[in-house]
Amino acid sequence: MTSLNAPHFHDDDAAREYLESIRWPDGPVCPHCGVIGGHYQLEGKAHRKGLYKCSERGCRKQFSVTVGTVFERSHIPLSKWLAAAYLLCSSKKGMSAHQLHRTLGVTYKTAWFLAHRIRFAMADFGQTGPMGSGGGVVEADETYIGRKPGRTKGWKGWGHKNVVFTLVEREGQARSFTSPARCSTG
Ligand SMILES: [Zn+2]
Repeated sequence: MTSLNAPHFHDDDAAREYLESIRWPDGPVCPHCGVIGGHYQLEGKAHRKGLYKCSERGCRKQFSVTVGTVFERSHIPLSKWLAAAYLLCSSKKGMSAHQLHRTLGVTYKTAWFLAHRIRFAMADFGQTGPMGSGGGVVEADETYIGRKPGRTKGWKGWGHKNVVFTLVEREGQARSFTSPARCSTG
């Protein structure tokens, strides 16, 4: 059982490692191009911790675990973000920015920002009702984005493929989900 005493709510290295373990249970995946593996970690004083570089088989861009998440490019320590998300999700009646401010020891302004961003990230933008309610037709389809591993021409032992699953309501909304990548490095 997680509690607010957990290291990842206090230590930013622990927070990053915790987030990596959730987001990348099978190892880092480049958030820019989807390539799995081949990346390397950038180390040394010139680089902040947790920075990776996508391989030459991918896009070669740098990335960290927060890229593409609500935590990206924030100056607020990651451990505070995780603690705020934990508090907002675990308290039955929700939590005010004032309570966050007192509990986390951050300024009220920071607490308000955290609460706002985290709630926004969790919101479903009004799409709360079941699709197809009222007798509408819902169609489902899935597609693959990326490249299948295989011993085809130019095969270098890697592949990246994401399954995108979409539900479309006729004359209505569409919802897309990504499924966990099915392929790993060769
Ligand atoms: Zn990449």
